[in-house]
Amino acid sequence: MIFELPILKFEHDALEPYISARSIELHYGKVFRFYVNNVNRLMDEFKLTTGLLSIIKNRLGCPALYYNASEVWNHEFYFEQLSPSPKTMPEGNLLLEINRAFGSIDEFKNEFDRISISIFGSGYTWLSQQEDGTLIITQEANAKNPIIRNCKPLLSCDLWEHAYFVDYQCRRADYIANLWNIIDWDVIERRFDN
Ligand code: MN
Repeated sequence: MIFELPILKFEHDALEPYISARSIELHYGKVFRFYVNNVNRLMDEFKLTTGLLSIIKNRLGCPALYYNASEVWNHEFYFEQLSPSPKTMPEGNLLLEINRAFGSIDEFKNEFDRISISIFGSGYTWLSQQEDGTLIITQEANAKNPIIRNCKPLLSCDLWEHAYFVDYQCRRADYIANLWNIIDWDVIERRFDN
């Protein structure tokens, strides 16, 4: 075993009513674990011992390894930013950059929601910092991640149906709107400052 499932920093029912324990059990306990197991199996098959970022950036091994490695990275990133007791507003330089790029935090959230709702099929919405320091919201299909375009991801929204179908069925917009209640801006600020 090269990679292990990261430990969640909250109980499975801690994000209720926004995300149920059942949904966390499936998304974290089954889907995320499935990707981790696939990466370990394929790393073994291709005799690789490198880190996830190297696999993602250099597309090592085979396409399945790239996709599964990207999903392991994406899921660690997604779950890390969720908290039952989040910091609800960004401050400092991150807030300044959000205001510069989008006008205000509310306008940023509206734009992030709009882009998230419009994705066709599976994927993610990302807030990232570009090489020139400015912020950008992008939509990425399936496992793709803005790292491969030299962007620094700050915040993500998992828009695969497995992320919300248990709790919201087809109401993707409600899932996206509710996610703001459990996004911990303390984590996003740390990513920005890092
Ligand atoms: Mn997912």
